[in-house]
Amino acid sequence: MKIICFSVLPVEKPYIEDWARKNQVEVKILSEDLTSETVDQVKGYDGVSSEGIAPVGEDVYATLEKNGIHQLAIRQVGYDNQDLAAAKKHGIVLTNVAAYSPRAIAEMGVTHALYLLRNVGLYQQRMAAGDFTFDEQTISTEIFNCTVGLIGAGHIGGASAQIYSALGARVLTYDPFYDASLEPFTTYVDLDTILTEADIISLHTPLLPSTKHIIDAAALHKMKSNALLINMARGELVDTAALITALKNKEIAGAGLDTLADEGEFFGEQQDLSTLPQDYQELQALPNVLITPHVAFFTKLAVKNSMEIALNDAKNLINGGSSRNIIH
Ligand code: NAD
Repeated sequence: MKIICFSVLPVEKPYIEDWARKNQVEVKILSEDLTSETVDQVKGYDGVSSEGIAPVGEDVYATLEKNGIHQLAIRQVGYDNQDLAAAKKHGIVLTNVAAYSPRAIAEMGVTHALYLLRNVGLYQQRMAAGDFTFDEQTISTEIFNCTVGLIGAGHIGGASAQIYSALGARVLTYDPFYDASLEPFTTYVDLDTILTEADIISLHTPLLPSTKHIIDAAALHKMKSNALLINMARGELVDTAALITALKNKEIAGAGLDTLADEGEFFGEQQDLSTLPQDYQELQALPNVLITPHVAFFTKLAVKNSMEIALNDAKNLINGGSSRNIIH
């Protein structure tokens, strides 16, 4: 069996090579995206894998079909730029990796929360200036005395509930979908209870019309003045302008953000700091804000799982089998 993998990052390569060795499958590794210009390289292969961001047009699926290929294994959650109807028309079964390591993202959320809760940034700033003091501005709360409010408790929110619960926090969850398996770790409540009672609010919903700006000025007004907002999901869940105002007016105590609404313009690349958008500059300048560049997922286990799940799906489908990761 021969599989060709497009859009492979250097960090992903060893995991693919390892899978290929263990499964005795010949895998060709390419850094280029799967596009109209590169798709001809699939000639002679039995299956294809790629990431899901680069736009794929109908001609790509047509070329896969022409070369006897019937699947495309996407190595991540998102497949926004795939044309599902065109793929179906050409008999290409798409798979994705819906959950490669929910704990990776959940742990990063908890890391942001603890960093802010214990004023680590503030101490670092002071110490860099030779100030080794502590006072009423830096006294903090312990996590087991906190109420954590999760908005969205699927794979990642569910893992977050388990971690916060293990740390002794009181965990409240707002999610229209009730998951009985989370009962030992959390109590389901309505959104208003989360907003008014939580010391830490952590967002874990997809971006949907119903979740866009779920944290807006009105929601921020309801939050406690000591509350921390943690967003590991999508930037557009939060009204960034309203968040900046709430932080500046001390309506809430801090924010930990792994995603920003306009991140596509600058995350993942080296930037000239002076050219960054105004909202980023304002957030970055606030001492009670921690920003990471959409890397909550980026752990060794998550990368390994993404590669292995996608390639196992490719192998199963090539062999005439099925996969629970088929995108319908
Ligand atoms: P999931 O589908 O398993 O869970 C999402 C949950 O949100 C579901 O339980 C759903 O019922 C709930 N939900 C939907 N609408 C809601 C609403 N209006 N209010 C409250 N809850 C609502 O998804 P997941 O795997 O847990 O991922 C969650 C999000 O995390 C993804 O959509 C993605 O945006 C983000 N994510 C971020 C990273 C990162 O590196 N920062 C990595 C992967 C995923």
